[in-house]
Amino acid sequence: MAHLLEERLKVRHISTGDLFRREIHRRSALGRAVQRYVSSGRLVPDDLVVRVMTGQLNTRLLGRGLVLDGFPRTIGQAEGLDRFLNRLRRSLQAAVYLECPQRVLVSRLAGRRVCSRCGANYHIRNIPPRRAGVCDRCGGTLVIRKDDRVQTIRKRLRIDRAEATPLLAHYRKQRKLFRLNGNGSSEQALQRLLGLIRQRRWLGKPDRAVRSAGKGGHRDD
Ligand code: AMP
Repeated sequence: MAHLLEERLKVRHISTGDLFRREIHRRSALGRAVQRYVSSGRLVPDDLVVRVMTGQLNTRLLGRGLVLDGFPRTIGQAEGLDRFLNRLRRSLQAAVYLECPQRVLVSRLAGRRVCSRCGANYHIRNIPPRRAGVCDRCGGTLVIRKDDRVQTIRKRLRIDRAEATPLLAHYRKQRKLFRLNGNGSSEQALQRLLGLIRQRRWLGKPDRAVRSAGKGGHRDD
């Protein structure tokens, strides 16, 4: 979802999952450190995630606004991010929680295919490639992510649900939590998110793409 936002609004995003997968692919020291967590669907330890992410979030990046995707995922990470932003006298504008029934999430993840060369994402039904098993962008082979096997998906969702309760309470207390219906196609969910961004004027002047967006979500307080 964050990469779609980046395309439409030209606002940069960082996804912890993409970053870790890239490092695993490059066989870097970080990649080696996170590999066993990512492939088994467990969360990478908070101190490592916070160190990596705050390393990425320098003031230049923060200047124009930034969408964080998949981070923070635990209360420990949220507190680490708050401490880092406080030191820079910055703060998070909002935390958006996309809600979706578990069966929809399982079907989305189980149908996902990724390009083994460039990392582009597809879905066997929702975003099929022009030629089965081949990336439209670079011709690379499409594969199933190790952590997208059904057993691992269920484990990841269980972990995320357990972590979500204190995390959501943290942002609710700060009056920054927005819940949004993430059901339907990614385009439908994107339109709802664009509507929320417009409604709240998070990016200042409404963008053309945003002006045509549907209804936004609501603050959860
Ligand atoms: P994702 O692509 O967001 O589903 O993330 C894939 C995997 O990367 C997760 O199952 C975790 O192993 C790891 N990961 C991504 N983001 C985080 C995070 N914020 N904290 C801990 N582990 C993460």
